[in-house]
Amino acid sequence: MKKFSAILVFFLMFSYAFVGIQSSSASVAQNDAELNFPENIVFSLDLKSADNVAQVKLHYGTIRDACGTVSALAYPEFTTGSSINALWEWNMLQSGGEPPGTTIWWQWEYIDQQGKSEFTDKKEILWLDDIHDWKLLEDGLIRFHYYENDIEYATTLKDAAVEALNHLHEDIGMLPDQPVDLYIYSSTQDMLDAVFYVPGWTGGLAYPDYNILIIGIDPDNLEWGQNTEAHELTHVLVGDYTFSCLGSTPTWLSEGLAVYGEGGASSFEAAFFQQNVKADTVMSFSVLSGGFSEDPDIADLSYSQSFFMVDYLIQTYGKEKMLSLLQRIKAGDAIDEALQYAYGFDLAGFQTEWRSYYDLPAWDEVSQQNLQNPTPVPTIIPIQGIDSQVVPSDPVALQSTPVAQPTQSSVSANGIVDWLSRNLILILVIIGVNCLLLIVIMLLVRQKGAK
Ligand SMILES: [Zn+2]
Repeated sequence: MKKFSAILVFFLMFSYAFVGIQSSSASVAQNDAELNFPENIVFSLDLKSADNVAQVKLHYGTIRDACGTVSALAYPEFTTGSSINALWEWNMLQSGGEPPGTTIWWQWEYIDQQGKSEFTDKKEILWLDDIHDWKLLEDGLIRFHYYENDIEYATTLKDAAVEALNHLHEDIGMLPDQPVDLYIYSSTQDMLDAVFYVPGWTGGLAYPDYNILIIGIDPDNLEWGQNTEAHELTHVLVGDYTFSCLGSTPTWLSEGLAVYGEGGASSFEAAFFQQNVKADTVMSFSVLSGGFSEDPDIADLSYSQSFFMVDYLIQTYGKEKMLSLLQRIKAGDAIDEALQYAYGFDLAGFQTEWRSYYDLPAWDEVSQQNLQNPTPVPTIIPIQGIDSQVVPSDPVALQSTPVAQPTQSSVSANGIVDWLSRNLILILVIIGVNCLLLIVIMLLVRQKGAK
C-alpha cells in the first residue's frame, strides 16, 4: 500500500510539472480600466514573466440587447520583454458614446510564440461620471438613480415612474422584461454634458437596448419631469417589445406611443395640431417614419401628429391590435406588412383612412413634397428624446417660422455685404468729393509756396 502511495505521489508530481511546462509563463500583475467620462476609457494590462508572449489583444463591449454577441477587438501596441505593458483607449467621441449607466466589459487575450492563447478574467465597469454623488432608490422594476440632495424630489419622481409603468401595463398591456435604470440629472445641461451628438433641445433620451433612460430634471420643473419620465419609459418598453435584428420601428409609432404613455398631447399640442389639420399642413406618413427634424417647430408637429396617428389606431381598433402590430415588427416585418397583418391596410392605406377621418383630401405626394424637407437627426442616437424645453408659447409664431434661423455669424457677414451694395453710389460720391477737396488743398499749398 505504501509503495502504491509513493508511486501515486510521484505520478502526481510529474503530471503537475508537465502541466507547468505547458502553461504560459506569463502572469497578470495588473488589469484595470480608467474612466475619463464622457471622453474615453483606458484599459491597461501588466504581464510579468512574459518573454514568450508574441501578441496581445483586447476584447471589449457593453451589456445590452444585441443581435448575437457584440464584441469589439483591439490590437494595442505593447513593449516586448520580460514584462509587458499594453494600453488601449476607447475613444467615445469617435465611437459615438455609450449611455451613462452602461456596463462595459473587457477581457485580454495574450498569445505565446507557439500560437497558444490565454485569457484574463472577464471584468466589468460602470460607465458613469464621478462628478455627481449618485444615489439609488429601487421600487419593483424601477431603479431610480439621482444626485439632487432632496429626498422629496427623488421620491416624487421615482413614484411617478412606477405609476407610469403601471399605467402603461393597464392601458397598452406592456411590461418591461428587466428592471429599467433611470439616471436623473438635476438639469438639462448636466445631462447634455454626459452625451454626444444630440440636438440641443433634447430633454431626455431612452436607450431601449440597454434598458436605460436619462433625463435632466430641474427641481423647479417637476411636472415636466414626470411627463418626460413617462415618455422615455414608453420608449424603453416599446424598444423591448419591438427589438428586432431584421427591421426597425418607424419613428411615428415609437414617438406616438411615447406621447400616449405621457397621457396624450397637451392642450397646446392638440391646438397646434388642429391648426395644421385646418390648413392641411399635416406631414406625410412616410416622412414621419424616418428621423424627426432638429428644428423645434417641425419637431413639435411631428410629435403631436404621431400621437394622433397612434391614438386613432388605439381608439378605433383597440390595444390588442396595437400589441399585435408591435409583435409583427419584432418578428421582422416591414411596417407595411405589419400594418396589413394587424389592421388590413398598409402605411398608404392608413394615411388615406386617417386623413379622411380628419376630413382631409387624399394625400398628393407631389404637391406636398416641396413643403416638407425634414432635416434628419443624427442616426447614431438610438431613439431621440422629445421634450424640448424651448417650446415657444405662441402657436402662431410656431407656424410663421417653420425654418431654422441663420446663425449669428452668417447674419452679420451677410449684413455688411448687403449694406455695402445698397450704399455703393453714396460711397462713390463721398470718395469723389474727398478727392476733389484733396486736389484743391494741394493747389492752394502750391500757390502759397510759389508766393
Ligand atoms: Zn421620444
